Amino acid sequence: MDESVIKNILVELKDIGVKAIEFSGGGEPLTHPSAREIMKFTAELGFDIGLVTNGLLLNKILDISNLFKFIRISLDAATKEVYYRTHGVNTFNTVIDNIYKATNYFSGNNIGIGYLITGINNEDILDATILAKKLGVRFIQYRPASLEYSVNENIWLEAKQLVDKALAFSDEKFQVFGAGIKWGHINERRYYYKCYTNSLVSVIKANGDVPMCVLKRNNMDSILGNIYSSSFSNIFFSKKHYNLIENNDLLKCRKPCKHDSYNIMYECYMQDLLHMNFI
Ligand code: SF4
Repeated sequence: MDESVIKNILVELKDIGVKAIEFSGGGEPLTHPSAREIMKFTAELGFDIGLVTNGLLLNKILDISNLFKFIRISLDAATKEVYYRTHGVNTFNTVIDNIYKATNYFSGNNIGIGYLITGINNEDILDATILAKKLGVRFIQYRPASLEYSVNENIWLEAKQLVDKALAFSDEKFQVFGAGIKWGHINERRYYYKCYTNSLVSVIKANGDVPMCVLKRNNMDSILGNIYSSSFSNIFFSKKHYNLIENNDLLKCRKPCKHDSYNIMYECYMQDLLHMNFI
């Protein structure tokens, strides 16, 4: 997507009150030739900005890394063997070097590691926390993946036990985010009846498509429109979006969904289940 197109969208998003922008994949955001300029422009517009990256091109934004609320490097491994299994490339050592440089360049205060648990990388779960701490990042975040295939329950159970062990490494300078209630959302029923979060959060794909939500980004029925043929506001506030929210079948949504906890909170709030004035 052209730099000028992205900048125009950002200005529009600012005008309609959007607060934060996350640059992330599919695809690697730092491969865009103007990534640094676009991210700087976004921060200058007054957005909070975050970056999810594979860490291979971190050097491109080192000198502006203080502009980010967070930079999360998708490592998903602690050894080059497991990294190859999860990423399909032999770039583990380069990414580790880049993280090390980044934490030294800017104290590492907003830099963290992402560990997506997919059923094939359990063995490195605990070692990833030990590695993250050595590298001087501020956090490691574990998440069970929303997969299209099913994973044996024992693998999830083992993963959760390893993440629970990793939690013990948290201290005042280093946080381990252990995925909390997401574990329960893999197999249990949903604790909400409607997904309202996709009326609060949006995604713009590299080809300009605006899907209903990030997990349905490849489902053509869930594409609301394309910013090359309409403004973002017209797409996001469209009848089609409203209808998709109203008629969304949660049984067809993947589990866990990254928005599960937001939907639970939203529903509690909207129905006053927690009697807000008593909290
Ligand atoms: S997958 Fe379903 S529950 Fe999750 S954000 Fe999308 S529509 Fe909402």
